[in-house]
Amino acid sequence: MNLSPQKRVAFYTLGCKTNQYDTEAMQERFVKKGYKVVSFNEPSDVYVVNTCTVTNLGDRKSRQIVRKAHRTNPNAVIAVVGCYAQQAAEEVLSIPGVRVALGTQNRNRIVEYVEMAETEDICINAVEDIMKVREFEDTPIESFEGKTRAVLKIQEGCNQFCSYCIIPHARGPVRSRKPVSVMEEVQRLADAGFKEIVLTGIHIASYGRDLKTTNLLELLKSIHEVEGIRRIRLGSIEPTLLTPEFVRRLRQLPKVCRHYHISLQSGSSTVLKRMNRKYTAEQYRDIVRNLRREIPEAAITTDVMVGFPGETQEEFMETRAFVEEIAFSRIHVFPYSPRKGTPAASFADQVPAGIKEKRSRQLIALGRSLEQAYIKQFEGRQVMVLFEEEHPDLEGCYEGYTDQYVRVIVQGGPELEGKLLPVMVEEALEGCLKGRTMGLNKEAESDK
Ligand code: SF4
Repeated sequence: MNLSPQKRVAFYTLGCKTNQYDTEAMQERFVKKGYKVVSFNEPSDVYVVNTCTVTNLGDRKSRQIVRKAHRTNPNAVIAVVGCYAQQAAEEVLSIPGVRVALGTQNRNRIVEYVEMAETEDICINAVEDIMKVREFEDTPIESFEGKTRAVLKIQEGCNQFCSYCIIPHARGPVRSRKPVSVMEEVQRLADAGFKEIVLTGIHIASYGRDLKTTNLLELLKSIHEVEGIRRIRLGSIEPTLLTPEFVRRLRQLPKVCRHYHISLQSGSSTVLKRMNRKYTAEQYRDIVRNLRREIPEAAITTDVMVGFPGETQEEFMETRAFVEEIAFSRIHVFPYSPRKGTPAASFADQVPAGIKEKRSRQLIALGRSLEQAYIKQFEGRQVMVLFEEEHPDLEGCYEGYTDQYVRVIVQGGPELEGKLLPVMVEEALEGCLKGRTMGLNKEAESDK
């Protein structure tokens, strides 16, 4: 009989959805080895910090989290994983308590490295030269957290080299997950009762480019055929993916959510050029027009960066006018933050912090009013909602999302969980809708 106490492991994830998937995959590897997952605030034997390096702030936050873990248990083995570790392994290993630095590859071997560091009482730098990696590291997940919506990683890396972005250096070149592995996971998710899948990666528009035998559309078609999966949501995409042909074929796939997060970054073509983005504002406008013509109720959300080096007041006003014209249903606004190691960090004419803040505030306010105008149009209409969970604050209320990713709150309890139901919208609240279900026995096969 093994009387040794069960080892504990705790996780902290910074950054994007892809990092969340990577953390879940690593967590599963620890659980399979008999570890118990505990909260990050508790004393644990192992802490895994999955880091982000998209801004210098990401690095700082990552270091703070590592120091917090070390304070909670100074004897713990701390493994720092992900983009920051990839970019600065030696710096990461110099933080007290860090025993393993693992970048954006070899996550499948995390338990092995942690146990080796502990038994041999050494520090391990397991970061590889990511620019030489050519194959997708498959880290399939077999058991899933939650019940309704699951994130599925289909791709890694980016070849775009936008002038402000460090990610191509931290994640390496585009590598796609083999369709057979994606489909096995989709099937496992469907068997586990999941109804919605969110496809994620660093640059999902590039899916298949390295494999040459497939592409994102082919993958969508295969997932579309899986029984039980009612919704397929695309993670962030580049506008150039949405060619007229691609959109025309998307229309034939009704399970694909009418929610497109199309990265904009700037509505000024001169700024886009300096950013090394591969489209102009005019092309973006044409792509959106075509998308709306083909899929009239499409919700279009985006990211916008303000205060990119050299951004004049006129260029900012172009962006502002562009955002208003496109009428995005939601925008994420980021003030530009110089990232060491990227061309833009050494561009002349860095925009003063005060101006960046002012421009951010203006765009955030505009984004809020556009979002409100967007959701208001649903008042008095019927929408389809996939219910996910209890409302965190309103007792006796449950919430879910429409395929356009609008949050909807109704009276109800756990009997709604995982159901796709028609809801009559009574009122648009701030950032969400309130309505009533049209009967539990009307569960639908799809949104349309
Ligand atoms: S597309 Fe540009 S912003 Fe996005 S990850 Fe690639 S380099 Fe970074």
